[in-house]
Order: sequence, then structure tokens, then C-alpha cells
Amino acid sequence: MDKLSGKTSDARKKSKSVEFHMPMVGESLGKHQKRLDSDLLAQGKLDFIKYLESVKGQLTQEQFELIRSSALDQNNLMATSDKLHAKNIETKFLLLKRRFYLDADNVVRDHKNSDKTVCEPDMIFDLVICGHVKNEHMHWRRLHRFLKMQYANVTRDFTQLCLRYCSKCNTDRKMLPQQKYRHYNIYSGLLPLERVHVEIITPFSTPIESMYSHLLYFRDYHSRFVWMQPLKGDDVGNLNDALLTFLLSLPRIPMFIETSTLNRQGLFEICERIASEYALTIGLGMSRSRTFQRNGITRLRQQLREHSDQCLAAWPMCLKRGATDQNLAYNTRVLAIPGNLLHNTISDYARQFELKREKLIENLSASNVVELRYNGRRQGLLYLEDETTAFQMPDEEYISTEYETDGKCDTPVDQITPINSSPQPHKLTEPLSSVLKTRMLLSDKPDLNRSPEISRQLSFGRGVQEENTETLCNASIEL
Ligand SMILES: [Zn+2]
Repeated sequence: MDKLSGKTSDARKKSKSVEFHMPMVGESLGKHQKRLDSDLLAQGKLDFIKYLESVKGQLTQEQFELIRSSALDQNNLMATSDKLHAKNIETKFLLLKRRFYLDADNVVRDHKNSDKTVCEPDMIFDLVICGHVKNEHMHWRRLHRFLKMQYANVTRDFTQLCLRYCSKCNTDRKMLPQQKYRHYNIYSGLLPLERVHVEIITPFSTPIESMYSHLLYFRDYHSRFVWMQPLKGDDVGNLNDALLTFLLSLPRIPMFIETSTLNRQGLFEICERIASEYALTIGLGMSRSRTFQRNGITRLRQQLREHSDQCLAAWPMCLKRGATDQNLAYNTRVLAIPGNLLHNTISDYARQFELKREKLIENLSASNVVELRYNGRRQGLLYLEDETTAFQMPDEEYISTEYETDGKCDTPVDQITPINSSPQPHKLTEPLSSVLKTRMLLSDKPDLNRSPEISRQLSFGRGVQEENTETLCNASIEL
């Protein structure tokens, strides 16, 4: 596709200033029909349907028809898929019932996706091609951004796949090998507790229970399971205690902790102290999963603020709204309940986990693995990812276009919160060497210069701006 995008770049540049022409379901290609290879289109349509049916969680044509004719019940739903059986049919049925409905104009809509139109699955291919040719053979990524504003079930993968069958763009008819559909959970390749995101958050401008001004938020990448600890302040002492409590109450210490709130140096210092004092093995990660992290925080803030009266009055209510409700509910990003995924029966999980960690440490360069001492005794281990060893997220670029809303949200968030700005190799290696030579003297207060996020959160003046930003962003964020 890279080659193809070059050929259409002129058209795209031109179309930037031009209004987007939204295609309608069932709309014909009109004058463009003649210029396209109809055999290739026919093949594309068949390939697309086959692909769609392999995608977990996508409404199939049969299911769509049952919903459109208001005939959906557990019996006929069962007949639409060999994956459905007596044990899961009720859940699936309730899920579909809650999610999709027929509006007054007989249009199927997706309640969970801002009530957008659900395109008849058999018509998605035509719809995408039509949108593409009507808009000067627009690049799939940009096209998807427009289509998803109106249609609930036109995914970026679908858009990309369909455009391969445009004979004008794909002149040599080269089909990249059809990728086997990735599990919907982009982190399915990780183990539970392999990577955990940690963040300091100031949810309200006044403290919870008049006591907790901040909270420490944790989210497991694989399962999306959320934990939280209340903080009376964002100083090192409070962070240290909350992180320690979290780590010691887990069934196993996560392989990697990721952060964008704390700079790497700050987190390193805290983890170093914890690891040596409690003889733990802790890893600091450096994956560039900015959107994943941002989505998690935005969602949490949204949930707490929706119930701000309850949450401000009682910390347990924050836990309930911000963590428990999410952990026990079906999550469309992972197509499962986080609580179930966290305790999923991955065969031989414990052994797999430890082997993976061992191998990982083995592959790190010596300067990234720090053996610690406590009271003169050798105990605890800290290891760090750097730029070269960092975990590469699959399709990182796609994910950012998928999640990020267009325009306004990006700028303020970036300006205020330089998420993941600290993990630069030079910033990491320089302070580290000095840390290793001299045992750290932890100051009572975090160094404000080194931690822009912390100083930002103490300034309430920005809070208002932040809120506005989120109102804009919330609509399209789905975790
Ligand atoms: Zn084209």
C-alpha cells in the first residue's frame, strides 16, 4: 500500500481543501464505474465478505437482517454462527439487543457507537469504494476518518482492504498477502500483567473526601483491568507508598511498568527503592503506546466526573465508578470482560510469564539491568527498556488514527501533557549512570523541572481547559 499511496498523493493534496462527499448505502459508482475493473471489484466484494465473517465481534449479514426485521431471538441468533452455543447465547443475544436497534426510519443504529448508522454488511464494500472514488481516490486512512463519522461498522481494516480492489490505485493488481485477522485486542500477544500503565491523576479540583487530591491509576495492557490508589499528595513519599501497596497486592510483579505522568528518572528512583527494600524484580518499560494511555485516562476522568458528587464524598465510590464498573463489564476493545481476561486460563501462565521475563532480561544490555543492594546485601533487580529494546506496538500508526479524534483534541492535550516526552535515550542514560554510582538521595518533593506533568497538575488554572478538551474528545473514545 505504501507504493499505492504515492500514486494518489496528488489527488489527496487537492482533496484536503475540498468538501467530503459522504457515500450513501446502496449508492452506485455512477460515471466512475466504467473506469474501474469490474472483475477486480467483484473479487474484492467476495474477499471482503469472507474477511468480515472472520472478524470477531462484527455483525454478519444474517444477524443484521434479523435485527432489521425485528426478528432477532436466541434461537435464530444461534443459527447464525457456529461459535454460539447454549452457554453463551444469552449473553450474545442481550449484547446485540442492547447495542443495535431499528430507528423510526428503519435504519439500524449502533447505540454503543453514538447511534451511528450500521451499514448492511453486504454493502460495506460498495460503500467504501464509492466513498473512495467520489472523493478523488482518497487514501484509505483519511477516508476511514470520514466514514466512521457516519457509519458504526466501517473499520479501518475494512477500508484499507476494500481499496486494494480499486484498479486505478492498484494498477498492477498486486494483492498483499491477506493478513490473518489480528485478535481485536491489540495486546493479545502480551500476557496479563506483562505491561501495566501507571499514571498520577488529579480527577477533581477539590480533594476526594477532602483528603485525596490525586490518585494513582494502573491499567493492565492485555486485559484493560484497572486498579486505583488514593493519594494525599503527589510527592515522592505518597507515590512510593501507593505504588508499593499496589505491587505487593498483585499475584505477581508486572514485567514492565509504563508511565507518562512521572518522568523515567522519578519512576526509576521510586522503583529502585521499592525493589531493593522488598527484594523485588521490577522492569521499567518504554513502549510508545501514547494513545492507549491517553484513552485510559480520559475514560477514567469521564467516569469520575459523571458521578462527581458521589465520588468526591467517598473514595470507594471512585473505585466503583473508575475501576470496578469497568473491570466487570464487557469491553469492546478486547471483546471480553477485563476481570475474566486478567485471570484467564492461559495454559502454563506462571511458567510462560517467568520464562518471558528471564529471556527479556537476558537480552537486555548489561547497562540496562541493575542489581540492587539493601543494607549491604544484594537483593532486588531493576531492568529498563531503551529505544532499541522497546516493545513495538503492532500497527501503532493505525491505532492512533483509529482512536484520535480529528482536530481540536490533539493540540491542547499535546501542549499541556507531553505524554511520554521523558523517555528519550539520552535522558535515560545520563541520569542513570549517576544514579548507579551514588545511591539515590530521594528528596521530599519531586523535582518540578524534571516532571512537567506534576507541576501542571498542581496548577488548577489549567483544569478548566482540560475539561473542555475532554468534552470534545469523549464522544469518540471507546476502550
Ligand atoms: Zn482508487
